[in-house]
Amino acid sequence: MSLTAERPSDLDRKRFFIDGAWVDPSGDRLQDQIEAATGERIGVAVLGTEADIDAAVRAARRALDDGPWGRTTVAERAAALRRFADALEKRAGDTSTLVSRENGMPIGLSQMLNGGAPAVLLRIYADVIENLPLEEARPSQAGSTIVRREPVGVVGAITPWNFPQALAMFKIAPALAAGCTVVLKPSPETALDSYVFADAAQEAGLPEGVLNIVLGDRDAGAALVSHPLVDKVAFTGSTEAGRAIGQECGRLIRRVTLELGGKSAAIFLDDGNVETLLAGLDNASFLNNSQTCTTQSRILIARSRYDEVVEAVASFADAYKLGDPLDPSVTMGPMATRGHLERVLNHIEIAKNSDARLITGGGRPDHLDRGWFVQPTVFADVDNADRLAREEVFGPVMALIPFDDDEDAVRIANDSNYGLGGSVWSADEDRALAVARRVRTGTIGLNYYTLDLGAPFGGFKDSGIGRELGPEGVNAYLEYKSVYASAKYL
Ligand code: NAD
Repeated sequence: MSLTAERPSDLDRKRFFIDGAWVDPSGDRLQDQIEAATGERIGVAVLGTEADIDAAVRAARRALDDGPWGRTTVAERAAALRRFADALEKRAGDTSTLVSRENGMPIGLSQMLNGGAPAVLLRIYADVIENLPLEEARPSQAGSTIVRREPVGVVGAITPWNFPQALAMFKIAPALAAGCTVVLKPSPETALDSYVFADAAQEAGLPEGVLNIVLGDRDAGAALVSHPLVDKVAFTGSTEAGRAIGQECGRLIRRVTLELGGKSAAIFLDDGNVETLLAGLDNASFLNNSQTCTTQSRILIARSRYDEVVEAVASFADAYKLGDPLDPSVTMGPMATRGHLERVLNHIEIAKNSDARLITGGGRPDHLDRGWFVQPTVFADVDNADRLAREEVFGPVMALIPFDDDEDAVRIANDSNYGLGGSVWSADEDRALAVARRVRTGTIGLNYYTLDLGAPFGGFKDSGIGRELGPEGVNAYLEYKSVYASAKYL
């Protein structure tokens, strides 16, 4: 493996960012952070306890109730968000490299999504909040009613390891824009990059307690979810964890948004263009080594074009260059952790023991003797009832399934517990749109699939509740209040 960049191994983060300062942890659980491509240590991070979460939530509460943040004007908040964006942008290069080392993301993608996207999102929500009417007077029987939109309060944000910077900012940017304060509990697999937010927040002069970061495992996450001073939980992660979090929030009558897993379908109609499919397949199905919630890991193919498309997808998979994600010529990096690699390999073994036909891949690559690499793998003739078609693999393992006509394609696409991403490939975009309208999913592309930061994103069914992104994304952080006035404010 080439070593294309410096690889420091002492990126230790042994303190938490609480109330605007770096504070010592209450416990002493350290966790080595391991580089996905080499299996070697990058640094060490300390894991938080319930006491650390409590300190962070109390700081966020104070900043909202007593501190300046709860009384800021929209203009002040928008300016703070823009300063925060500038400070993050300065660190974008290091952040991108660090995340690629942590989770195996190819560096070019990491530069866009970990380096670039957080600042873009902060600027988007600065604009959104400046243009959102937060108070409106309406005529009433007595005089007028003033309908206000107020910050929902203290937000507990819990994020996964696959797009750690962007997914945290999906929550932090609209929350801060709305006037909320935040406690972020990042994923232990990508502990080190999360503290870039703290460095940048300090430089940008965010008031104390507005953003707090405590790393921890699921127990720390659970402590954040159930903390009595938290008003809203914003979660991205697995459906299993989302179910537990949703249950607890239901019991507490706590607001919650859940961005969860997927098993999305790319539908190739009988008039589809194979070149177009191959041009879009990396984003649709293999983005970030397929460690992406919107991965279209079921590829449904019109039976009349089946053999041709199976062959094309397999050749496409074979053409990936696996290796060091810091090497810009590498197109597929490793899985994020050894445990995750084992889960992906287990899915492959289960599929090998089904009636599905292994077309390419099927295990670890011979030429990479360290790191958590898996070959891009394609199974054809998968039954939509097979585990490979029903369960999220979160790795580059594709299930190819034939269908008879558009009706059959919609039926198979919808025969899933999930509904997050998807795409339709056809020479006739009106026909593709007609199919897309019938697929029960939160996002779907026509002849390409790329997330649009300006439009709502989220899931149907087990893929989640609520929406992030777009101007709509701020709604989850605002609550209505109606003030019945006797005077006329119109
Ligand atoms: P995960 O659910 O194991 O963990 C996600 C986060 O939740 C981590 O910070 C973890 O420590 C915490 N956590 C886990 N259980 C918890 C609990 N009971 N209470 C509180 N916190 C808890 O997920 P992961 O393995 O880190 O990420 C992969 C999953 O995330 C995949 O299923 C993927 O589809 C999903 N994901 C969804 C989206 C989306 O927007 N819909 C985006 C990216 C990833």
